Parts: sequence; structure tokens; C-alpha cells
Amino acid sequence: MLHRIFVGSTGRKWISLVADGRTGMLATYNPNAMSKTPLDKDLWVEFDGDCPGKHYLRVNPHTFAGRITAWCPRKRTQFNISAGDIIRASHGTICWVKGYLEGSTPDPPPEPIDTRNGTDEPWPAYQAWLKAYDHWRKSARQFARSGYWNHANRACEKCGEQLLHSRPELTCENCGTPSVGHWLDSVEVI
Ligand SMILES: [Zn+2]
Ligand SMILES: [Zn+2]
Repeated sequence: MLHRIFVGSTGRKWISLVADGRTGMLATYNPNAMSKTPLDKDLWVEFDGDCPGKHYLRVNPHTFAGRITAWCPRKRTQFNISAGDIIRASHGTICWVKGYLEGSTPDPPPEPIDTRNGTDEPWPAYQAWLKAYDHWRKSARQFARSGYWNHANRACEKCGEQLLHSRPELTCENCGTPSVGHWLDSVEVI
């Protein structure tokens, strides 16, 4: 699924096209820009898929919260992953990802400005904010577990209930779809 496309110039010769989604795709990056960031060999990870072996965590791609840019030493390219894509990792990587997720929880919705001039008229904007804040708070709590955040306002495919931003599944828990659980549950730490 394609979530976002960013097209921009990264230098005189390079045009980069970045397509980022849950499964992680990346078309082109400027390899000259990449080489300026040194690799940290302690931050290795392995994934399920067609490219076995160690890959290395690099930076925040600033696409979706929780996404991480990883480097493939065999293909000499980088791409974006989520914590849930990791199947094997070093202890250092696990600490890095935990801190990264805690530190990249998106901000809550801003509180509305009180325009009632000191009167106690009903304030529907505040009631709406309370509801939005509660939804954000539940999403934020789950974010460290799922490592996933979707900015869109999504509804459960079965019952139409609003989905948490941090829920990777397309249906809500009430519709009988259990959560994927903690991303760390399926990681072998070496
Ligand atoms: Zn690879
Ligand atoms: Zn539902």
C-alpha cells in the first residue's frame, strides 16, 4: 500500500523519489548523502524476506511515526522499516528501538482556544477535543507496543468504529481481531 510520495531535489544531479508504506518501499535515494552518515555496526537487524543477513539502523525518515531507515550492505541501498518487521537483532538495537518509539510518539491534538469571554456557555469545541485527546491517549499507549502509527482517520472495516492510530489491523478489537501484540515478542535478541 502506498501512503505517501515525496519528490524533491537532493543536489544538483539527484532527484529522489521516496515511497513509504507499512511494508517499506524506497525507490531512490541520493547515495552521496547517505555516505555522510557513518554506519553503527552495533545497530544490526534481520528481517523476514528475500534479503537475509544483517542490515543496520540509521535515521528517522520523518515519514510516519515509528518508521526507521535501515541500510542494506549487499544492495547498498536504504529503505524504511517498522519495529514489527524485525525478526532478529542485537541487544543494543532493542534498546535503541525502545527509546526511539518512546521519543517519537506524535503530539496530542492541540486544546481549543476558549472564545466564550468568561461566560459558561456550552463549549462544543472543548467536548470534541476531549474525545480527540482520549483517542490520541489510547493510541499513544499502544504505540510503544505496535511500533505503528497511521495519521489518517480510519474506521473499522466491519463496524465503522474509529480505529486507533497505532493499530496496524483494519478492524477493531471488538470485531474479534486480536492485536498483533508487542513488536518485541517476535524478535530473537542476540
Ligand atoms: Zn538487504
Ligand atoms: Zn469493529
